[in-house]
Amino acid sequence: MRLRKIDCHVHLVGDGSSGSACWFSLPTLYKKFLGRMMIRGLGLPLSTLKSGLDKQYAENLAQQVRESDLDAAVVLAQDIPYSDDGRPMPNDAQFYVPNDYVADLAKKHPAELIPACSIHPGRPDAMEELERCIEAKTPVLKLLPNCLNIDYEDDRFLPFWRRMAEVGMVLLSHTGGELTVKVYDASFGDPKKLAKILDCGVTVIAAHSAGRSGLFDPDWTEDLIQMFKHYPNLYADNSALCSPNRARTLKHILPTEVQQRIIHGSDYPVPVSGIGPWLCGKLAFADHWQIKKSNNILQRDYLLKKAIGFEPDTFTRMDQLLQRSLTKK
Ligand SMILES: [Zn+2]
Repeated sequence: MRLRKIDCHVHLVGDGSSGSACWFSLPTLYKKFLGRMMIRGLGLPLSTLKSGLDKQYAENLAQQVRESDLDAAVVLAQDIPYSDDGRPMPNDAQFYVPNDYVADLAKKHPAELIPACSIHPGRPDAMEELERCIEAKTPVLKLLPNCLNIDYEDDRFLPFWRRMAEVGMVLLSHTGGELTVKVYDASFGDPKKLAKILDCGVTVIAAHSAGRSGLFDPDWTEDLIQMFKHYPNLYADNSALCSPNRARTLKHILPTEVQQRIIHGSDYPVPVSGIGPWLCGKLAFADHWQIKKSNNILQRDYLLKKAIGFEPDTFTRMDQLLQRSLTKK
């Protein structure tokens, strides 16, 4: 069976204008600037930030997948943070994308979009929501522990991870630094915190290969690479590494033995450019110049990753994981 080329890390954003219940907020000038830059980068008019974002964003995304060399993209729901005693903290969140919306979109575009749910394991209905997503055959769960206030070492979450392992649901977890979304506790981005989940038998993809985002972020990528030896169920994605602030992570994950665990991802709609990889000496300037001409972000990220030296297997590895997921029960 031919394996599909999949982008494992694609964000949905919406404004609720189609009844999706999605929302986003751009509280500071810097965030407003980032939001506008992303919308422009997607080729959407800035007026979509005022209304109609749901539909235009989703349709544009499905079209970009179709027009790229990729076969499909994993599209991500986004839960909100919860306090340690299980109270929702929407004011500490910047965007929300409900599981039902993602599942519906994936049903509407079955060839292009693969759904990933997002459930804070500390919310009072976490187990019920997990069962609902298993029932809906959602193969992946996405979490941003540092922004959602999730300490993976909290033993109260063990039944949640065990159930994920039992059914073979894949965890895509943010690791490393973060600049785009408000951070609740930066130490929750440490990949070593994943040990408990990995011990439960969950297949985990460490997003961004635990790399640094800000100038003073700790560098956890080598810790992550050490963990590969102990955990055959641990992978990492190369998402957002074609950005100037994250490109320095590339050198750690390009060696062949490390690439065995790398999965292709873009972090769409985060802007994609060859400048960072070129400055880090991982991309020829001619390649940067050529690839820059593509105005499809997904395709540009795909072409850059190929030119940087990511092997063909990194583009199809997600499909291998998906074929094993949700098949256990
Ligand atoms: Zn992301």
